[in-house]
Amino acid sequence: MIDLSHFTSFFIANWKLNGSFQFIDNFTEFLKVPKTAKNCITLCPPNLYLNYLQLKNGDFKLGAQDCSYFDEGAYTGEISAKMLVESQVEFCIVGHSERRQYFSESNQIVRQKADKLIKNNIIPIICIGETLDQKNQKITNKVLKNQIYESVPEISNNLNTIIAYEPIWAIGTGLTPTLEEIKNSHNYIRNLDKKFLEFKILYGGSVNAKNSKQLMGIEGVDGALIGGSSLKVDVFNEIIS
Ligand code: PEP
Repeated sequence: MIDLSHFTSFFIANWKLNGSFQFIDNFTEFLKVPKTAKNCITLCPPNLYLNYLQLKNGDFKLGAQDCSYFDEGAYTGEISAKMLVESQVEFCIVGHSERRQYFSESNQIVRQKADKLIKNNIIPIICIGETLDQKNQKITNKVLKNQIYESVPEISNNLNTIIAYEPIWAIGTGLTPTLEEIKNSHNYIRNLDKKFLEFKILYGGSVNAKNSKQLMGIEGVDGALIGGSSLKVDVFNEIIS
């Protein structure tokens, strides 16, 4: 398993259902990873492209966007954590709000997936976050607490698990919480239990080249999970610089 303590910042590119061989050729040709060993840059392509991306041998880690909670067997379409290991995957997003929304993934499923990943030496990046409705009802903390307690497996610790705070209403919308709100949410998560104090907690939701510096400067933010802006290599270069 990769040693998280080596890094001070994490930038995770979630390409979602986007990309092609040509896209990867272009992206890796122009990607400029800063020469600081403290930044961990991770690219999460659709699984089909993992090996191709790995062959590019760039200054980045490989991540997946999801995995099965089964090890093997008659589960058509699934990809196991063990298979991801064979493709040199070191990180895997789980519980992204799009999986929760479109594929009915519950906290319990997310927890089982994260558990499998850890047991296969892959770091799960467990996503949590409130809807706009929940924010307006002022129940963000309650939602985060519930998601954390139900989605984070027993065996998780600060060296084998990352948490990504992603307000659902901020994903792909161009909207972001205030700096104070992000700081408070990260602080709230960290202080839920002694065990979370040293966790790496990322922010995700409309991070772009204009706001990334400010967002990454917030106390308690250890990096970013980036969707749309990770599809444009120039924008992504600016963010990680
Ligand atoms: C995401 O999907 O995790 C995400 C943060 O997307 P975007 O950066 O496009 O808001």
